[in-house]
Formats: sequence, structure tokens, C-alpha cells
Amino acid sequence: MKFDPASKIQDLLQFGEYGDVNPSITDSATYTFMQAKSMADTFDGTAEGCFLYSRHWNPSNKYLADALAAMEGTEAAWVTGSGMGAITSAILQLCNAGDHIVSSITTYGGTFAFMQNYLTKFNIETTFVDITNLESVKAAIKPNTKLIYTETMTNPMLQISDIPALADIADANNIKLVVDNTFTPMIVAPSLLGAHIVVHSMTKFINGKNDCLAGVICADSEFINSLCDVNNGTAMLLGPVLDPLRSSSILKNMHTLHLRMRQHSKNAMYLAQEFKKIGVNVNYPGLPEHKGHNTLKSIMHSDFGFGGMIAIDMVTAERASAFMEMMETEGVGYLAVSLGYFKTLFSNSGKSTSSEVPEDLQREMGMSEGLVRFSVGLDNDIERTFDKIHHCLKVLELL
Ligand code: PLP
Repeated sequence: MKFDPASKIQDLLQFGEYGDVNPSITDSATYTFMQAKSMADTFDGTAEGCFLYSRHWNPSNKYLADALAAMEGTEAAWVTGSGMGAITSAILQLCNAGDHIVSSITTYGGTFAFMQNYLTKFNIETTFVDITNLESVKAAIKPNTKLIYTETMTNPMLQISDIPALADIADANNIKLVVDNTFTPMIVAPSLLGAHIVVHSMTKFINGKNDCLAGVICADSEFINSLCDVNNGTAMLLGPVLDPLRSSSILKNMHTLHLRMRQHSKNAMYLAQEFKKIGVNVNYPGLPEHKGHNTLKSIMHSDFGFGGMIAIDMVTAERASAFMEMMETEGVGYLAVSLGYFKTLFSNSGKSTSSEVPEDLQREMGMSEGLVRFSVGLDNDIERTFDKIHHCLKVLELL
């Protein structure tokens, strides 16, 4: 049967203390107990339904986590104060000093920097591979490899990960497949395709308002419980918890996510097709000639389109800068990093969100210095938006 993440969220019966249609917001860091024994049992992890301290769990975060687990089809989830909080907690929970990771070379720059520069403090090494080359993934696995890391749709190259095939490789080696699904919420549910752990930066599409940072780790209950273990859980001990006031606002935004994803995708498809018509070198997984188009079609279980992310090649950083500055003045959107916002955002990846990746490596992975990444907004009249973009290209003689 078709998996419908939007209906899974809709079906949740989450309401407030006084019958409020929105769940009550937890405005407390700590929780009272009527019996000392209940407190001791809660610390031991044997008391069900009790909250002890908001860094561990709190009711607002539980409502949001339940909605995210429903959306991803996992048993459980835990919400963090940023996407990096989710990524780093999940990885640190899985790895011990001396372990090894196989990762896609194209990931968000912060993730790359964490693996390349930070984890080495703990003698945890990463081999970066082209994630679409399954043979190179297999060849990179060593006896001490603990996980394969990828993004469903990679940032900023928009490659598509063949999640079922990667899950098979992980299972065959008794290691975990961790997938960052930030670019494709609703569109793909990696855990239903075999991924063991799914992470998101909720700062992006899930919240969609650019008013806060947030993240989530979705997985089976065993993994989520291990993250929150008071003695050795990474989430509990490093403390990257999301603020409950933010949880409650993100939860409300999740109920419009399916409508937003459909509109982001519709607008991105229109722009991609128009860029192609005027001869701009465009990268969009929704176009049939995209290398990952068929893979994406085979892993998406829904009708939310091919996502809101597009990359075009302006060849040089100077041309990219002039183009982005003029687009901002003409009202196309904002020259800003991040994505999943209701307005269109654009940035030159090599000079911003992937600047952590050394330039020689950027070229090796095929990232042009003139790559302009668009997070296409919810514009009601995308034809009007394209006309403005086309105008900029013509005036700046970039065609
Ligand atoms: N994952 C992806 C794919 C991202 O693009 C980003 C941020 O741009 C992150 C993770 C990090 O998320 P956050 O900024 O919420 O920490």
C-alpha cells in the first residue's frame, strides 16, 4: 500500500490539557513527582509516561517527535536544537574512538567538516566516496566501519542516493545506514527503504519559516532510547535538545508541509524547464536527463514532486555574484544560505554552504565555482518570477 506521510500526520490525535486543538506547550525545565520512588524509577528508565527534565524529554518535544516518526515511518524520534545537533549526536552515538565512516563526498559542508576535521580528534576516520558508485562504497568498507552516511538528495550536487542498494550494503556488513533527508521530506521516507537512521535539519522545509533552527533523529525505539540514556546517551549528555516553545510552533507548520512541498516542487520544475529552454546548464532531479531521475522515481512513494532545489551553472564566481545580486534587487528572492523557505533563496555553494570543502575537492566532485543553488519558494506566479530571472540573465549578458 502507498505510504502517505501527510495522512500519517493528519491522523495523530494530539490535543492540549484543556481540550485545546493544539497540544499544550511545556513551559518547564523540570517536573515534579508526588512520590520519590517514581522519580528514581524515571531515572532508571523503568517508569512509563513520566518526564524528569527537559534536556531528556519534555511533552512538547514528544508531540513533535511523534509527528516526525509518523512522517518517516519510524518507531521513534528525538528533536534537536539544529540539524547539526541531530547529525553529530547520531554519529557520535554510533561511533567509538578508532571507528571508521564511509560518507558521500557531497554532503552539507558542515557535515563534511565535522567528519573531516572534528571526528579525527577521536581518531574516527572517514572515507569520502561518490555515493552513486555502489562499488566504491563497498570497496571503502573496512572491518572498523560503523556506518554509511549519505543525503537522499545531496547538497549541493543534487545527486540521488539509491537508498535500498545502500541499505543492502550496510546490512551485508552489519553496519548502519544514516540518511539525511533534509531536501526531501514527504517525498522519500528512507527508513521504509531500509535506512536505519534518518536525520533532518528541520530549519529547512519541515519548519519552512526560517524563524528557528531545529533538527531530528528518526529511528527505532532502541536507538532513540540509547540516545537519551542518562548514563551514556549522546543526546542526554551533550544536551542539544530543542526548546519546547519552538517544538510547538514547528509541529503546527508540519501540518502544511505536504502542501508546501507540492508547491516548491511545482515551481522548481517550472524554473528547471524554462532554464533548459533558454540554454542554461541546469541540474534538477525532476528532469528526465538528470542522472538520478530514475533512482529518485523508484524511491519516492508519493506525489509531492521532485523537490524544491535547483542548481544552475554560471561558470565563474564573478558571474554568479553579479547574477545573484541583480536577482535580489529585482525581487526574485534573497541572496541567502539555507533553504525550504517560502521565498526563493539563492547562494553560490562553493563560497558559502560548501566552503568547508577545499576547492580542489569541489572541482573533483564536479562543483563549478559558478554553481548557484536555488531553494525555490512558494511563489503563486512562478512565470512572473522566471521573467525576472530571465531579465537578469539578459541584462548581465550571461546567456
Ligand atoms: N543537512 C543539510 C542537508 C543541510 O543543508 C544543513 C544546513 O544547511 C544541515 C544538515 C545543518 O542543519 P542546521 O543548520 O539546522 O544545523
